[in-house]
Amino acid sequence: MGFKIAVLPGDGIGPEVVKEAVSVLQAVAPGFEYEEALIGGAAYDEVGHPLPAATLALCKRADAILLGAVGGPKWDHVQPVEMRPEVGALLPLRSELNLYANLRPARIFSALKEASPLKEPEIDLIVVRELTGGIYFGKPRERREGGDVAVDTCVYSKAEIRRIAIRGFEIARQRRKSLVSVDKANVLETSRLWREVVAEVAGDFPDVKLEFMLVDNCAMQLVRNPGAFDVILTENMFGDILSDEAAQITGSLGMLPSASLSDNKGLYEPAHGSAPDIAGQGIANPLATILSAAMMLKYSFGMDAEAATVEGAVEKTLADGVRTRDLGGEASTSEMGSAVVSRLYL
Ligand code: NAD
Repeated sequence: MGFKIAVLPGDGIGPEVVKEAVSVLQAVAPGFEYEEALIGGAAYDEVGHPLPAATLALCKRADAILLGAVGGPKWDHVQPVEMRPEVGALLPLRSELNLYANLRPARIFSALKEASPLKEPEIDLIVVRELTGGIYFGKPRERREGGDVAVDTCVYSKAEIRRIAIRGFEIARQRRKSLVSVDKANVLETSRLWREVVAEVAGDFPDVKLEFMLVDNCAMQLVRNPGAFDVILTENMFGDILSDEAAQITGSLGMLPSASLSDNKGLYEPAHGSAPDIAGQGIANPLATILSAAMMLKYSFGMDAEAATVEGAVEKTLADGVRTRDLGGEASTSEMGSAVVSRLYL
């Protein structure tokens, strides 16, 4: 139980929501060791770099990382661009730690159904997005000086596809055993390779139902019948877009957790940003970060029972009508956090 957790509060509401998530972890799984470090604009201001060497070293030493959020208007124009919080901290952290699998669950808690823009929302899905390959990392990329042509290259190897596909199938096996692999195989060569490898991996998971779907169709089906999805497996850019679409149909940005995993480490953070418009007011919703901590218990430490305890406490808290401002209530960040802690063992 002596796991070490790197705590990176970051900017804006990051420190406020991370504090509540740590309280929940301390209550449900005593005995973890926590070490805090600077990241993002806060780190840039203090030591001149958004991802200080000491922070990266801590992340490498730690068993798991809990991150708040980085960025804000104060650092939007920092030069060079590599010193801006998102570019200089998040991207290098992902690549340095080889966090190739991004998990973005989108779920509607029954007490919050009215928040969804859909009429009869039954949503409990997870997007498994490849995070370190594809068009975001392909070279060469080029914009001819003063010219009309720009080039980005989408590259995937079989090994990159195989490891994310295995993750997707393993997760599907723990859920409702249904996986939709999303691509654009009618147009893209990388998508045809993607299909080939996913079909191969499927052979090792005969208990999981596999369906291939084109990304444009998936975007439509997510709005039309989101309840039909269990696990959506996809590459980097499609996953970026589809996970935000899935987030939007739940209607509550303050509720959505995420995990980014390597083979032996995980970084856990809310799907939302640093919300500078409400930072420092004590009104941010900490549930996305608390649910990210629950993902840490499950995916980094195999503590499925404790993860379910946290999710159950969140559910009870909402059912009892406790709401932060974004959910139409009056509860403060710390009141929401305490409400969850007090319901852990009810
Ligand atoms: P945002 O997610 O920070 O905020 C969007 C809106 O949602 C705001 O009105 C905000 O008040 C609200 N909101 C977000 N989280 C909330 C919460 N927990 N409780 C209540 N309300 C919440 O997105 P943005 O405004 O586009 O970005 C703000 C900054 O965050 C930018 O600098 C952006 O680059 C950065 N950002 C960081 C990350 C990250 O650290 N992973 C992710 C996205 C954006």
